Amino acid sequence: MERFEAEVEGTRLVLVQGDITRQEVEAVVNAANPDLTPGGGVSGAIHRAGGPAVTEAAARLRRERGPLPTGEAVLTPGGNLPAKYVIHTVGPVWHGGTQGEPELLAKAYRSCLSLAVAHGLRTLAFPNISTGAYGYPVDRAAEVALRTVRDFLRENPGKLAEVRFVLFSASDFQAYRAAWERVKGL
Ligand code: ADP
Repeated sequence: MERFEAEVEGTRLVLVQGDITRQEVEAVVNAANPDLTPGGGVSGAIHRAGGPAVTEAAARLRRERGPLPTGEAVLTPGGNLPAKYVIHTVGPVWHGGTQGEPELLAKAYRSCLSLAVAHGLRTLAFPNISTGAYGYPVDRAAEVALRTVRDFLRENPGKLAEVRFVLFSASDFQAYRAAWERVKGL
């Protein structure tokens, strides 16, 4: 399995090919839908592996707070996952790039990072938000994700020990690897 590691302001930034449900970090991010129901893709896998503790906590938040707006994030227990918590965020659906998709995707990443820091969590793993069912082109999503995380780490040095991107496919891993070369020096 592919793996790459860099350092940003004292935080490890890791790219790895793998399964988000297997990550031994304090919190994994779920590419959720606004109703916080299991659905397919990453979300189905996280709810399946996490079990009822995840699905029931998500359902309770949905009842109490209504649908989760695009770009926002909420936290539930991780249930049977190795991760103690799941941070659920809703990425934008791709409509061609003219409907604020990059800003909304960046907001989703920032919301997760801020929520993790607010809860004192030190290690966080992201999936490739919006690039599956929501149709966001991977190269562009990778650049937004890496730029947003890099900027957050520069603004919040020392707050996180590790931010990990877990890419399901080898081609997504390579897209992130290439995007990091474009983004890192900027
Ligand atoms: P969205 O609805 O935000 O587009 P998806 O769950 O449909 O989210 O897909 C996001 C990305 O996550 C896709 O690249 C998909 O291949 C990948 N993915 C699916 N299952 C997993 C998993 N178990 N671990 C990591 N990534 C996964």
